[in-house]
Amino acid sequence: GSDDHLARIAASFTIHPDFPIKGVNFRNILPVMRDPQLFGWLIDECVARIKDKFSQPIDLVIGLEARGFLFGPAIALRLNCGFAPIRKPGKLPGKLATVSFKKEYGEDVFEIEEDAIMPGQRIVIVDDVLATGGTLRAATQLMEQRKALPVGTFVIVELLGLGGRNRVPSCEALFSFSG
Ligand code: AMP
Repeated sequence: GSDDHLARIAASFTIHPDFPIKGVNFRNILPVMRDPQLFGWLIDECVARIKDKFSQPIDLVIGLEARGFLFGPAIALRLNCGFAPIRKPGKLPGKLATVSFKKEYGEDVFEIEEDAIMPGQRIVIVDDVLATGGTLRAATQLMEQRKALPVGTFVIVELLGLGGRNRVPSCEALFSFSG
């Protein structure tokens, strides 16, 4: 059943203390994708949770660079909606919408193709991990700037105690671990 699948998905994640810098407990979700059965279950669980928790219809799934690109498109296909990436600067061509936001060290910028999102579209933003929430919050602001309607934000893993919940209160998470 679903609980068994969730347990086996969680068991595939690895933890890497002090990566990429000292003090960060890095949660690596990539091993789940090495096994097609596990990866299929992960997508099943993501889609079920999104359908259950977010109001319909959903027009577009937005994936955040880089690990949001790995499963966002699979979720979008299963929801029968589109997909568009939010990227770091200098990667996307054409007319762009941008937002700048504070990271732990200095500023960062996100970009999206301006014509990827139409006003009024109902958007779900996905990423792998919610930590401080700065990343997902910036993505939500970019959607609002484009007059889209963020109907929800979704992550595979929420890390508790890092403030993500405060910045993105309504975020749905498949798993919650202590940060
Ligand atoms: P934040 O903006 O602090 O919520 O950070 C979220 C982004 O950084 C996500 O795109 C994650 O991929 C990455 N990230 C931050 N902390 C971790 C962590 N402990 N383990 C894995 N990824 C992380």
